Amino acid sequence: MKKTSVYDNVTRQFAKAADLMKLDSEIRKILAKTTNEVVVNFPVKMDDGRIEMFTGYRVQHNNALGPYKGGLRYHPAVEINEVRALATWMTWKSAIVNIPFGGAKGGIQFDPSKYSESELERITRRFTFTLGSNIGPEYDIPAPDVNTNAQIMAWIVDTYLSTMPAHERQAAVHVVTGKPVESGGSIGRDKATGQGVVFTIEEWAGEKNFDLKGATYFVQGFGNVGSWASRLLKAHGSNLLAAEDVSGAIFNPDGIDPDDLYEYTQKNKGLVGGYPKAEPVDHDTFLATKADIFIPAALENQITVKTAPTLNVKLVAEGANGPTDPEGDAILQERGIDVLPDVLCNAGGVIVSYFEWLQNKRSEFWNLEEVDGKMRRKLVAGYERVRDTAREYKTDWRTAAYIVALTRLETVYKERGIFP
Ligand code: GLU
Repeated sequence: MKKTSVYDNVTRQFAKAADLMKLDSEIRKILAKTTNEVVVNFPVKMDDGRIEMFTGYRVQHNNALGPYKGGLRYHPAVEINEVRALATWMTWKSAIVNIPFGGAKGGIQFDPSKYSESELERITRRFTFTLGSNIGPEYDIPAPDVNTNAQIMAWIVDTYLSTMPAHERQAAVHVVTGKPVESGGSIGRDKATGQGVVFTIEEWAGEKNFDLKGATYFVQGFGNVGSWASRLLKAHGSNLLAAEDVSGAIFNPDGIDPDDLYEYTQKNKGLVGGYPKAEPVDHDTFLATKADIFIPAALENQITVKTAPTLNVKLVAEGANGPTDPEGDAILQERGIDVLPDVLCNAGGVIVSYFEWLQNKRSEFWNLEEVDGKMRRKLVAGYERVRDTAREYKTDWRTAAYIVALTRLETVYKERGIFP
């Protein structure tokens, strides 16, 4: 039997939405495929003098609405089907929140925790060099994703600019977003995805008359998205009950202080291994935590036919990309658990990437209020479009979100036609 991949999930989600909205069958053929798939094998010198070969990817799904856009992931599970799925989700995501970008994603298949800082730098720089003109500030703009951060973006921009003629360098700083603020990054980009998750939760709570003060939540993944979402929810007086990362899961029925936990993880490189203010629990117990909100903020395929029946929450707010597979989705729907789908819920990151890109092009620096305020407005507008579309088509929010994106793309393809 053929092993199903996360890309099969995308294909099924797409088919469901395309059928329901009666997407033009010719345009459907186009959007069902990725446009370009770049796979590179490249050598890097290790600290001990050995050469190691790495495999890197950049998949560009679609650029009808603007340049290709999406993160770079460093993880052993990175492979072509995963990157195809992640690239396709980026196309929908940008279209849903109405920013002028297409969709792409990339990464390197390796475990960065096993490499030194200087090896990581050389891996990143050589990957950037090898991608060459497959990325570019008006063509395809990478950003952080799982296990990549502002430092890695700084190495990418430095490498990319170093390969350009001197007089063109200053004009290309927007080749990546998520840079450190001093190197042309935007204020507020670091927390943007987590902040966006919290903004969408606030919208949901407002509509449901649900009080976030005293509400309980738990989070899977305590990297950039999970830790920021947790810390920002604390400001509402909500209570973090459990958290999980690659090192394991922890639980405290009286609540865990996300700021304290964040400090601990910064020092100890993970959640488990002696955090004194919570008990370690196993994965199944963690997923069955009784709480109001679950925020998956790690990897794909976490909420499935096996785990969806065990969730004990009112809302799943998808900080991760693709945490719920189609079987999991059907079970959540049946059980009346609301879902804020990834392509809406975690779009705060790429929205602020767009703001960073604009600031670079205009040589501007916006302040945090401006960034947060504008991001919130874009996200809420996306939220309202998805909500209204779900009502109009009497469907779930993920399918509705797809319909919002597909409608935009269909319009553009109809206006422009197909060359030649
Ligand atoms: N990796 C993030 C995402 O999945 C951000 C992408 C970006 O800013 O381009 O949305």
